[in-house]
Amino acid sequence: MLKGKNALVTGSTSGIGLGIATALAEAGCGIILNGFGDPAEIERISTDLQGRFGIKTHYSGADMSKPAEIRTMIAEAEAALGSVDVLVNNAGIQFTASIDEFPDDKWDAIIAINMSATFHAMKAALPGMKSRGWGRIINIASAHGLVASPNKVAYVAAKHGVVGMTKVAAIEAANTGVTVNAICPGWVLTPLVEKQIAANAKQSGISEEQAKHDLLAEKQPLLEFTTPAHLGALAVFLCGDAAATMTGIALPVDGAWTAQ
Ligand code: NAD
Repeated sequence: MLKGKNALVTGSTSGIGLGIATALAEAGCGIILNGFGDPAEIERISTDLQGRFGIKTHYSGADMSKPAEIRTMIAEAEAALGSVDVLVNNAGIQFTASIDEFPDDKWDAIIAINMSATFHAMKAALPGMKSRGWGRIINIASAHGLVASPNKVAYVAAKHGVVGMTKVAAIEAANTGVTVNAICPGWVLTPLVEKQIAANAKQSGISEEQAKHDLLAEKQPLLEFTTPAHLGALAVFLCGDAAATMTGIALPVDGAWTAQ
C-alpha cells in the first residue's frame, strides 16, 4: 500500500515508535529509524525490518532536543532513501513533580523533545512533501494533549502544544497533498509507562500487577492498555487514501479517558 514511500519515525528504537515503524514497514514503506539505545539492538531491529518486509532502512541517532541535529537527520534521510514522505513525531520523555518542585532542566528537556522537536522536524520535512505533492505527518501527542493531570506540567504543556501546532500545520498544508494529524493515546504499556508503574508500586507498597490496574482505573473506563501495534495500524490508516481528507485532528485512542 505504501510501496515507494519512506517514513521517518522519531523515537523508533522502543515502544510506540517501534510499533509504528513496524506497521509502516509491513505496509511497504522504507523506514528511517531514530532514537537512543544499544547499537547492536538497533542494528538487530533494522535487519529484522529489512528481512521481514523487504524494505530499505536507515538509522539516525539524532538527539531530538537539538534543532540542528533534527535538520541534519531529515536531510540525510532524504539523501539516503530519496524522500521523507511520512513523518511520525513520536520521541518523548516524562518526568513527574509538582510545579513548585519541578526542576528547570527537566522542563527545558521535555519542552524541547516532546514539543519543539515536532516543530523543527515538520519545518524541515514539509518543503520536500509539498514539492512531491504528497505527505503524511503524524504527531504522537497524548490524552495529556487534551486534558491535564497533576505533577505533569511540562508533559501536559508540551502535548497541548503538539495538538495546537498540528492544527496550524494542517491548515497551512491544506490543498498540497499533505495531511497533518495527532494521535492522542491513553495508557500504552511501554518502557516509559513501566517506569511509572514500578515507581507507583514501590511508593504504595503494592504489586506491579495491582499498580497496573490502579493506573488504568484512575483514568480509563476501559481497563486495557492500548498496544504499539494498535497505534501502528492507525498510522497506516492515516497514510491511506481513506484518510485523504482527515487533517488537523487530534484523535484519542484512550479507552474513553477524555470522554468523561
Ligand atoms: P519509550 O520510552 O518506550 O520510547 C521513547 C523513544 O524516544 C525511544 O526510542 C527513545 O530512545 C526516544 N528518545 C527519547 N529521547 C530522545 C531524544 N532526545 N532524541 C531522540 N530520541 C529520543 O516511550 P513510549 O511510551 O513509546 O512513548 C512514545 C511517545 O508516545 C512519546 O511521545 C510519549 O509521550 C507518547 N505517549 C505515550 C503513552 C504511553 O502510555 N506509553 C501515552 C500517550 C503518549
